[in-house]
Amino acid sequence: TSGAANAKGKILLATVKGDVHDIGKNIVSVILQCNNYEIIDLGVMVPYEKILEAARAEKVDAIGLSGLITPSLEEMVVVVAELERAGFDVPVLIGGATTSKMHTAVKIAPAYSGGPVVYVTDASRAVGVAQSLLGSKDPAGYIAEVANEYDEIRTRFHERRTEGRLHPLERARQLAPALDWGEAPPPPPFIGIRALRDFDLADLVPRIDWTPFFRTWELTGTYPSILDDAKQGEAARGLFDDAVAMLGRVVAEIWLLGDAVVGFFAANSDGDDVEIYTDESRAEILMTLPFLRQQMEKTKGRSNLCLADFIAPKGSGVADHIGLFAVTTGHGIEIKRAGFLAHKNDYDDILLQALADRLAEAFAEKLHEMVRRELWAYAPSESLSNDDIIKEKYAGIRPAPGYPACPDHSLKPMIFELLDAHGNARMQLTENFAMLPAASVAGFYFAHPGSRYFGVGRVGKDQVSDYARRRGIPIAQAESWLAANLAYER
Ligand code: SAH
Repeated sequence: TSGAANAKGKILLATVKGDVHDIGKNIVSVILQCNNYEIIDLGVMVPYEKILEAARAEKVDAIGLSGLITPSLEEMVVVVAELERAGFDVPVLIGGATTSKMHTAVKIAPAYSGGPVVYVTDASRAVGVAQSLLGSKDPAGYIAEVANEYDEIRTRFHERRTEGRLHPLERARQLAPALDWGEAPPPPPFIGIRALRDFDLADLVPRIDWTPFFRTWELTGTYPSILDDAKQGEAARGLFDDAVAMLGRVVAEIWLLGDAVVGFFAANSDGDDVEIYTDESRAEILMTLPFLRQQMEKTKGRSNLCLADFIAPKGSGVADHIGLFAVTTGHGIEIKRAGFLAHKNDYDDILLQALADRLAEAFAEKLHEMVRRELWAYAPSESLSNDDIIKEKYAGIRPAPGYPACPDHSLKPMIFELLDAHGNARMQLTENFAMLPAASVAGFYFAHPGSRYFGVGRVGKDQVSDYARRRGIPIAQAESWLAANLAYER
C-alpha cells in the first residue's frame, strides 16, 4: 500500500479467486503508481468477500479485477454481482489474458449497475482509463461513450451467437479424420510414471522461447529481430540484458527449482473419449479422458477434429499409448519475490515471474524433446533447432487443458491424479484449476505423426449434454466449465 497524499485516486487490484497469475496486474500496478494513483494490491486468489471488505475499508475509487484462466471469467461475474448486492457505486476495471471487451460487455457489465465496467486492453491503457474515469475532465461523457459501445457489442454478440453454422455432433463425428494406424508410434520403453526432481535449469535456457517474454512487457515483435527494431529495439535490448543477467543468477544461485513428472499409459479411444488402462492387457480402465470435437461447418474435405482421433480406436487391434506430463519451475519463487517486494523492487519481482514462466515453458519443450528422443523414443534421431521446435516441426503434440484443442481446465485434476503431480513434483491446483506454482505446464502427449494442434471452437448443446453424460456431471456444471466455448445462450 503506497499512500500518497496527493494521489489522483485509490485503486484496488486483485486477481480473482482460483486464479494465480498476476504479472499483468503487477505491471498495471507499477504503471498506475508511476502516474500517481494509490494502489491497494490484494494479490492472487482473492475471494469476493475480501475484495468487498478492502474496497469498503479503504474507500477506493475503483476496483480492478484480473484473471488468466477461463474459469475466472465466471468468477468476475460473481464479484460484480456481489458489489451490486452490497450497493457499491465505484467503477470496475477488467483485465488479464482471458478477458475481453466482448465478455466484459456481455457478461460482466450487465451484472453491475453501480458504475461503469470497463475492459482494459493492456497495461499501457490503464492510465488512460483511470484518468477518464477518475479525472476531472467529463467522466460522465466517457462513461456514456463506453456504455454505448458496450450496448452495440451486446447487440452484435446476440446476433452472432447463431451465426456460423454448427454440425450436429453425430455429423461432426462422421467427419473425424482417418489416421493411418500403420504409422502409430512404437510402444514406450516403460509404462507408468517417472519423476525428474531438481532438474538442472541450465539445460532449459537454450529452449527458451523469448518472443512471449517481450509480449508480457507489451513489446510486440519476434525475438531476436525485436532487438533491432527501430521503435522498440532500445527498450527490448535493455529488458533483454536485465533478463539475461537475472537468468544467470537464477541458474547459478539456484533461485528456482524445477520438478517434472511424465507418464506413459496403454490407451485406446472410444468415440471422443480416450480410455487409459491399468496395464498392457487393457482389461481394466484406469481413467477415461473426455475430449471435445469441433462442430463448425468447414469447407469440403476438411475434418472435424477431436484429440481422441489421434489415439487408435479400441477394436482396431492397435495397442496404442498416451503420455501425460506436468512440469514446474516455480519452487522457491515466493521467497525471492518477498525479498524483492520488501525492498519495493517491483521491477525485479515482475522480471523474475516472467523468467519463471519462460523456464516452465522451456521445461515443457525440453521434456517433450526428451520424450520424443529418449523417454518414449518414437523419434530417436530427431535433431531440430530451437527455432524449428518453437515452430512445432516435431512429430506429435503436447496439448494442455485450457488451450484451444482442450479448452476444459477441469481435465487437469485427472492429469494430476494419474501422475501424482502433488507427490512427484509438489504441484497443486486451485478450486478453479489454476496450477501452483504459477510457473507450471501440464498436458498430454499424442505421438502419432498425424496429430496436430487445433482449436475446438464453439460447441452445441448436443455436445455439451453428451459431454456431461460421458463425465457423469450435471449439464449446468459442463456449461460452466465450457462457458467460453458455448455456441448458445445458457
Ligand atoms: N513456445 C510457446 C508455447 C506456448 S503454448 C511458449 O514458450 O510460450 C503453451 C502450451 O500450450 C504448450 O506448451 C502446449 O502444451 C500447449 N498448446 C499449444 N497450442 C495448443 C493447442 N492448440 N491446444 C492445446 N494445447 C496447446
